[in-house]
Parts: sequence; structure tokens; C-alpha cells
Amino acid sequence: MNEDEVPCTPLSPEEVRPDFPQLNRRIGDYPLAYLDNTAATLKPRQVIEAIDHFYATCPANVHRGIHTLSEEATDAYESSRKRIAAFIHAPRESELIFTRNTTEGINLVADCWARRRLKPGDEVLVTVMEHHANLIPWQIVTEATGATLKFARLHPSGQLDLDDWYSKLSERTKFVSMPQVSNVLGVINPVKTLTAAAKAVGATVLVDAAQSVPHMPVDVVDIGCDFLAFSGYKLLGPFGIGGLWGRYELLDAMPPYQTGGSMIHTVTLEKTTFADPPQRFEAGTPSIADAVGFAAAIDYLTNVGMDRLHQREIELSKYMHERLAEIPGLRILGEYFEGKPGIASFDLAYAHAHDVAQFLSDEGVAVRAGHHCAEPLHHEFNSESTSRASLYLYNTEAEIDQLIAGLGTVREIFG
Ligand code: PMP
Repeated sequence: MNEDEVPCTPLSPEEVRPDFPQLNRRIGDYPLAYLDNTAATLKPRQVIEAIDHFYATCPANVHRGIHTLSEEATDAYESSRKRIAAFIHAPRESELIFTRNTTEGINLVADCWARRRLKPGDEVLVTVMEHHANLIPWQIVTEATGATLKFARLHPSGQLDLDDWYSKLSERTKFVSMPQVSNVLGVINPVKTLTAAAKAVGATVLVDAAQSVPHMPVDVVDIGCDFLAFSGYKLLGPFGIGGLWGRYELLDAMPPYQTGGSMIHTVTLEKTTFADPPQRFEAGTPSIADAVGFAAAIDYLTNVGMDRLHQREIELSKYMHERLAEIPGLRILGEYFEGKPGIASFDLAYAHAHDVAQFLSDEGVAVRAGHHCAEPLHHEFNSESTSRASLYLYNTEAEIDQLIAGLGTVREIFG
């Protein structure tokens, strides 16, 4: 082994738990077992302090004032962009646009890229496992342009049916969009291979990375896609801020999404010329403090190490799936596979998902119930709703045991 290749020590939750003040909470008589990380993660004090520090020192507007506070705010905002861009290996920091969330990133691409180019006869290819955020914008855009929306189907295991996906890819396919990780099934799609195939037929590719960027190393150059969207609050950051990465040539060829201040080059009463990316897509005053908090979350994850985080999550996911398999009448949507991310969406033969979540909450366990913004996917599994337990770096085996004990109570009452 090369001297520089120091084997990384496995991540222990005890290493990070003291950073999360929320973990000290008790829900009634129970310690909080926060297993709703696919919906939103907890926030470490480093992120809270970074936001607090921004407001305490330089809460001025960016890009405008020639005074110290404004210059500091601008530096903080642009340095955040740089660190977040580097985290996903963007070749240029100007390729990272601040959005509100993944949804806004996908809508921006659907509106400013796809809507201007699609025509009748063209096709857009998505999958049956989409979150609504990566489905509805494509429904709207294909309806508006006369293009056709196609859906690649799934195997009963929950894995994408690659034969079906390839059979729907053709010279007519002008846009391909897919999730890297499903928020319901935990399935990891082979986005690099699929992107290469899509590019070979001349399609533009977007990756919905809402559930991958927080949980595994992601490299936009390695994937080879054109656009990649993600959200800050799913990776320890604040709500209200996300990132859209796009190849510079494509961004540069796109019109603005919204118009107004901050996104212009010159304005006369009759006409406006627009700023270069990323400013062209950031009309109005941005969420500066949230960008600062977002970057603090990225720094936190970088310090932990995404490989270590991913390995730990896979290990805990295995334990969670083994323990859930002990519960009679419990069905998990999608088969377990080695290396499955920490997501288990399940239904019980004898209790409704909302009742399950309520009884678990009474015992301190936070899970989500519903269709998780993936209604068509639930219908594919003949399910209306599931309870979803999902993990992150601070979760412990003891919290999984608390979930299993709570499901024992549910069974006593309903089973
Ligand atoms: N795609 C996936 C796979 C998701 O899990 C989510 C959020 N649950 C979204 C898109 C939408 O993210 P947001 O609500 O942050 O826009």
C-alpha cells in the first residue's frame, strides 16, 4: 500500500452525535429516534453557528454595496458556491446555481432548456420510480410542446428494468431524467451507464440527486450528465436552499428562469441583456445565510468523509433490514440488496401507515407515512401508502431497536 493510502477508520455515530443538539430531545418518556432523514436531516451546531455568525456579523446584501459588510456577505455567498461546486466535482464554480430546492432546479431545466427545444415527435424518458418533482415538470413540458413522455418500468424487485429502459431510448429521445437513488425503494440507478447511452442518441440528461448527494460521493464529470439537482436540507443544511449544477455551455445557451434585479448585464427602458451564468438564473436577492449554512453542511460532510458516511449507512441499513424482516406481516417495497442505502418503505398487513407512524411517534420514533411524493410508484406495488424509516450518519443500532420495539406495540394493538 502507498504510504499516503491510510485506511480510513469506520465512522462511529458517537463521533458525530454530540454535534446534533436535536438528539438530546425526548419525546414523552422516550429518547428521540430520528429515522426520517430522507425527508429532512437534523442540523449540526456547525451549520447553526455558521448561519448565526453570518447574521451577527455581515447580514448585508450581496453583489451591490461597496462597503465592508456587503463585501463580506458577497465573499461568504460566493465562497459557499465554490465549496458546494467542488463537493460534486463541478469543473467550474459558475456552473452551480443556487435554487430553493431540487424541485426548483428540475423546473428550471424543464422550462429554460427542454420547453424551448422539444417539438412534436420528440420524446422525454423518465422512470416509474420518480418523485413527483421529476415527473410533473416533464408532464407539463411534454404537454406544452407536443412531445411524448415515456416511462421505463421496474422489476418486481424494485430495480429499474434496464431492458425496458433501453427499448424506450431512441433517436427520438431528446431528454432523459432519472433519480440516482429512489426516495422510496432505496434503489441506486446506474446513472453513469445510462447517461452514456442517452448521450449516444443525442439526448440531454438530468440526474435527480436529491437522495444521492447527501449519502454517497457524487462526481458530475464521472457521471457525464448535463444537469444535476439536489437540496441543502437533506444533507444537514438549512431549508430553502438547493443546488442545480449544469454544464456551462448549456447554461449559457439558456434564457433566464425569472427576471428582475441581479440577473442583468444592461437595462434600458425597452430592452435588457442578461448576466452570464450563474447570476442569470439568480434573480432577486438570494438566500444568503442559507447558502452559508449549506456550505457549512458540505464542509461538515467533507470532514466526516463521504466514503465513511456511505459505508456506515450501508452497514446500519443491513441491520435495519434484518430486524424489519423479523416483523410478521411487514412488506418492504423493493427487495433488499447488498449496499442498499438506509431507506425502508414498508406496509403492514394489519395497520394503516398513518397509524403506524403515530404509534411509533408515541414511542419517540420519527418515520414518515404516505406515498412520499411517489404516488405512481406506490400504485405499481399496489400500495396507497407506506411508512418509511430512513437513516443518516448519526443513527444507531439502538434507534433501530427502538423502531422494532415500537412496531411490536403496533402489532399488539392492531395485529
Ligand atoms: N427527488 C427526490 C428523489 C426526492 O427524494 C425529493 C425530496 N423528497 C425531491 C426530488 C424533491 O426535493 P425538494 O422537495 O427538496 O425539492
